[in-house]
Amino acid sequence: MAEEKKIKKPRGVARLIPGKCIACGARCQSSCPKDAIEMNEQGEPIILVEKCIGCRKCLKVCPTDALEIYYTPEEQKILAEIEARAEAAVPEAKEVSVEEAAVLAKIQEYRGVWVFVEQLRGEPAEVSWELLGVGADLAKTLGVELCSVVVGDKVEGLCQESFAYGATKAYLTDDPVFHHYRTEPYYQAICYLVEKYKPEIMLMGATGLGRDLAGAVATKLQTGLTADCTGLDIGDNRFLLQTRPAFGGNIMATILTERTRPQMATVRPHVMSMPKKDPSRQGEIVRESIPVSEKDFAVKVLEIIDERKAGEVDVAAADVIVSGGRGMCASENFVILQELADELDGVVGCSRGAVEAGWMPAERQVGQTGKTVRPKLYIACGISGAIQHLVGMQQSDVIIAINRDRQAPIFEVANYGIVGDVLQVVPALTNRIRELRTKEGVRT
Ligand code: FAD
Repeated sequence: MAEEKKIKKPRGVARLIPGKCIACGARCQSSCPKDAIEMNEQGEPIILVEKCIGCRKCLKVCPTDALEIYYTPEEQKILAEIEARAEAAVPEAKEVSVEEAAVLAKIQEYRGVWVFVEQLRGEPAEVSWELLGVGADLAKTLGVELCSVVVGDKVEGLCQESFAYGATKAYLTDDPVFHHYRTEPYYQAICYLVEKYKPEIMLMGATGLGRDLAGAVATKLQTGLTADCTGLDIGDNRFLLQTRPAFGGNIMATILTERTRPQMATVRPHVMSMPKKDPSRQGEIVRESIPVSEKDFAVKVLEIIDERKAGEVDVAAADVIVSGGRGMCASENFVILQELADELDGVVGCSRGAVEAGWMPAERQVGQTGKTVRPKLYIACGISGAIQHLVGMQQSDVIIAINRDRQAPIFEVANYGIVGDVLQVVPALTNRIRELRTKEGVRT
């Protein structure tokens, strides 16, 4: 077939749009490489069409977009033909190298969404059920099964519990060697299962245990892992879109694992919502015995020492949090937050500003480098609402912000805002709640 003759694209010439020039000072004239612009007495450009080469430099410098490119009717016809040819052209088939084809074929072997069910002495971590909630959405979009992975000693009951939260299949490895969590036997068990059954997505909680295990599994399987995701979705080509804060929380990055499987992600507790439990749901249990034995492992667990001190507050588990920031002005002012929290059966949390000031202990910090919380009520007192704080609390059901600066970013996520001095507003709130509760007979 004879090759189509190439058409040269016309460049046109610059032209002034009447009424738009503001006589800014001949910026267009100075930008012209061909001296094709002269200025009239009003300071407007006169284009010398015989010199203009349609380079568009004058268009780029014009502050009011007062210049445009003009094409003659003949040139317009040529442009229309070029456009028509481009539309009709069949896109060239993309060449794929042998290695690329092998990668694509391998990826196709992986199907299904898996959630690792974390447990300590048989007690499941709630984040596992939250992950089954988001996992169900991912599995539905992909049209695949949602499976749980249960590793431990006498933990079969957790398979049934995972069905109640949405899994339809559970891979169970139940053996005394998995009695206590240790990185080596656990990662070997997970890797064995992944290599045998090939899931495309594997989710774990971003807890101490989950972070340790996920890193080891991803390293052994040579696959990608995104830690502390705040959003998970499915994109083109079945990719898991793993969204998390980046660059100190100033931007949200969406990360893809393009060439390896499974796509691994961890998510902190309370970031995803808890799905509804339905104990009547049933599923299939796949029992696997992993070829490992106690003598293979150098690490032995002698004793478990609970590092939590008696009476320590777990901010992440509270339904009501009264949180204080640098706006509390001094450590002793946190007493008024405790009084309000006591009235509401809640706990006191804080921003990093308050921790850095030495007013509150680090375990009470809410935010990107503190705890992620999802209480029914979050009262932010004297907290500006930096993005790193917001990512840890903006999923709360109701947010009340008290700040004397009405422009403070915390008001953008708050359901109710009070502009005022915390040292006055908080005691007034506490007194009012006390009054109401006494009136309604709530107080004994
Ligand atoms: P400020 O920003 O100083 O705000 C104080 C607020 O109090 C102001 O809005 C002011 O108007 C108000 N105020 C002052 N006096 C009064 C008054 N009398 N009455 C009412 N309002 C008053 N921060 C976190 O909180 N959690 C994190 O996990 C976290 N992680 C981070 C991770 C990284 C990598 C980085 C770079 C930063 C992180 N930060 C975190 C810090 C964050 O950027 C902010 O610096 C911090 O949240 C500010 O704390 P603040 O709101 O208490 O203080």
